[in-house]
Amino acid sequence: MKATVMYEAGDVRVEEVADAGLVEATDAVVRITHSCICGSDLWPYKSMGAVDGGRRMGHEFVGVVEDVGADVSTVASGDLVIAPFVWSDGSCDFCQEGLHTSCRHGGVWGNEDNGAQAEAVRVPWADGTLVKVGTEPDDALLPSLLTLSDVFATGHHAAVSAEVSPGATVAVVGDGAVGLCGVLAAKRLGADRIIILGRHEDRTAIAREFGATDVVAERGKEAVQRVRELTGGDGAPSVLECVGTPESFGTAASIARSGGTVGRVGVPQDGKLPRADAMFMRNISVRGGVCPARAYIPELLPDVLEGRVEPGLVFDSTIGLDEVPEGYRAMNDRETIKAMVKP
Ligand SMILES: [Zn+2]
Repeated sequence: MKATVMYEAGDVRVEEVADAGLVEATDAVVRITHSCICGSDLWPYKSMGAVDGGRRMGHEFVGVVEDVGADVSTVASGDLVIAPFVWSDGSCDFCQEGLHTSCRHGGVWGNEDNGAQAEAVRVPWADGTLVKVGTEPDDALLPSLLTLSDVFATGHHAAVSAEVSPGATVAVVGDGAVGLCGVLAAKRLGADRIIILGRHEDRTAIAREFGATDVVAERGKEAVQRVRELTGGDGAPSVLECVGTPESFGTAASIARSGGTVGRVGVPQDGKLPRADAMFMRNISVRGGVCPARAYIPELLPDVLEGRVEPGLVFDSTIGLDEVPEGYRAMNDRETIKAMVKP
């Protein structure tokens, strides 16, 4: 089968590899119908050192179960399934608490020999990991179903972590796919006022479609000043940090209202937590982290299936597997918000 392999920064290839197959009795093999390139894939694309034999890429997918191990009971061959970007056993104490990303037997695709930007993938702990959609594949719905794998679930995690509630005033830092999904999630949770910080008009147009009431195109101190103007001088009680750089985190901290909460889901790009002193003096809480998507999929799935939300609008490009290297380049050059891959 064909799969995506990254050898080092900027060097992405689609190659013939060994077919995905069952290893453990708890595994499934899924034939991928839709995968995508993640904003987080761009960090290794920018900076990864050379890896001998390369690293398999891709951790978001929807597909059809092709084969299951002897111990798998919740999915069967032919089922349409969604996978969260982390596999988990579904049974340990952390999984029971809804923190599947800390599963005692968990792991993540896009390493060693198992990635989702491929024709098929091995799914460890299939019962704990996969969510059966319960319908036939529908081309209109599949992009939105695919966002449950990561970006819509992650935007929802940001909104939940930032304690967004009905009538809330919310600010969202970042106009990538996760930031846009954060807007949609905040709207879904009943936010009244949603301010997005972003300067790309194609992106902020989607943000408005998702429910953003205000767009702040300024950056840095000017952005902080603008958000404060829009919020009576105080800042927003709930802030979603959807980028992960020190600058974006500093902005998120600066636009939070005293006593407010920053929900962080941007993958941190260094070890620092800027504005820690100011957050201390203003009692600003920081919550969030890597999104336990598996915990949220059952809750978000009905809204997608019944058309109440359409997070799939974040995909502005659809490519075949052979075009994946070009997809990385286009996303890295910000020509594309998010590329969907149809193997
Ligand atoms: Zn677990």
